[in-house]
Amino acid sequence: MDLTDTHCHIHEIEGNHSQTHQKWQSDGIKRTAASVIAAANEVGVKRLVVIGTSLADSKHAVTFAQSHPGVWASIGIHPHEAEAHDYPEIEQQFRDLAQQEKVVAIGECGLDYFYTHSPKQAQVRLLTMQMQIASDHDLPISFHVREAFDDFWPIFDGFAHTRGVLHSFTDTQHHMEQAIERGLYIGVNGIATFTSDTAQLAMYQAVPNDRLLLETDAPYLTPKPFRGKMCEPKHVLLVAEFLAGLRTQSLMDIAQSTTANAKRLFGLNNP
Ligand SMILES: [Zn+2]
Repeated sequence: MDLTDTHCHIHEIEGNHSQTHQKWQSDGIKRTAASVIAAANEVGVKRLVVIGTSLADSKHAVTFAQSHPGVWASIGIHPHEAEAHDYPEIEQQFRDLAQQEKVVAIGECGLDYFYTHSPKQAQVRLLTMQMQIASDHDLPISFHVREAFDDFWPIFDGFAHTRGVLHSFTDTQHHMEQAIERGLYIGVNGIATFTSDTAQLAMYQAVPNDRLLLETDAPYLTPKPFRGKMCEPKHVLLVAEFLAGLRTQSLMDIAQSTTANAKRLFGLNNP
């Protein structure tokens, strides 16, 4: 078995004092990044991409990836963080980070109009900046887009040859198909295992094999049957098993195609 978690935040186990770090501490179980990676490897989750959500968090993700085999980093600023930034200063630091070893993507970045923690204009500006960096450095993007596709597509279409994934995709089949037409991948996590939305389940069935990616978003979005417990990258296996059942494919088939897709998009070839 060879599975890949294309979106997790395990660097925050040993991180600073972000919300995600606090979440990792919240169940009182003592974890180290090494033990979480070992538990993932044991069930066949051999590759992980850790995702930065701010400049400081992205720097941390890069250092973390560089010191762990089988771990790569994506650098970005989450749309929730959009307001509080001095862009030219941040941009140069991201451009420097983008050239570092084991940086395989930009993001997570995008638009979140569900929470709208930051003004839309600031989100658009920050997304555009990160898409420009990805384009200049020929890196794929891990996109976070929530209730914002009407604004997202025109921005996306303004950049030729953008590669990437719509992470934690839970939207309509229509938007999934628009993403596929644009060459994007669809990232599926534990939400699939506990949603009761039949249209959403039908959408997951319709994602082409060569565009499906697995992720956990750990420590968030724990799949069934472990709801209420902490999510870890090892749980990508549960997402794979669920999708195998839903799509009437073998688990091996799902593992093979999703890992091949992750390697193709992010270039996760060296250990
Ligand atoms: Zn995330």
